Amino acid sequence: MSRTFSIIKPDATKRNITGSINNMIEDSNLIIVAQKRIKLSKEKAEGFYAVHRDKPFFNDLIEYMTSGAVIVQVLQGENAVENYRKIMGATNPDNAEEGTIRKKHALNIQENSVHGSDSDANAEIEINYFFDESEIINN
Ligand code: ATP
Ligand code: MG
Repeated sequence: MSRTFSIIKPDATKRNITGSINNMIEDSNLIIVAQKRIKLSKEKAEGFYAVHRDKPFFNDLIEYMTSGAVIVQVLQGENAVENYRKIMGATNPDNAEEGTIRKKHALNIQENSVHGSDSDANAEIEINYFFDESEIINN
């Protein structure tokens, strides 16, 4: 059992499709062990995506991620990081496989509906950035 960190992004909360995304998560045997609906501040979003600070899309990304509610989640299951990346699909929905969240729901390379951690080490950092251990309930 391991954990990953997920964000359902503003394009999805705005379209009221968070339930459909959660169904796809649960259908893939990941358990949502923590979840909250929040609005990211500019500072919080910039800290979260600090690795992309020098990318040309950074300012647009921060504007988008702070444009509406997001759902932050901790997902638990077998190989959680790898499994969730598989279910999410490619960053650009044009390249995402059939049956993935991004193929079904993403609008474009930026408004791509979900985030998932890309390594166990980053999952731990990202979970701790949003959740106290006492908020994660796995039974
Ligand atoms: P995430 O980190 O959100 O799970 P990812 O790991 O698939 O997505 P990253 O390369 O880490 O992709 O990019 C982070 C986010 O920045 C993307 O999910 C997307 O919202 C946005 N993004 C990435 N590349 C571009 C781009 N070329 N143009 C616009 N936005 C982009
Ligand atoms: Mg990433």
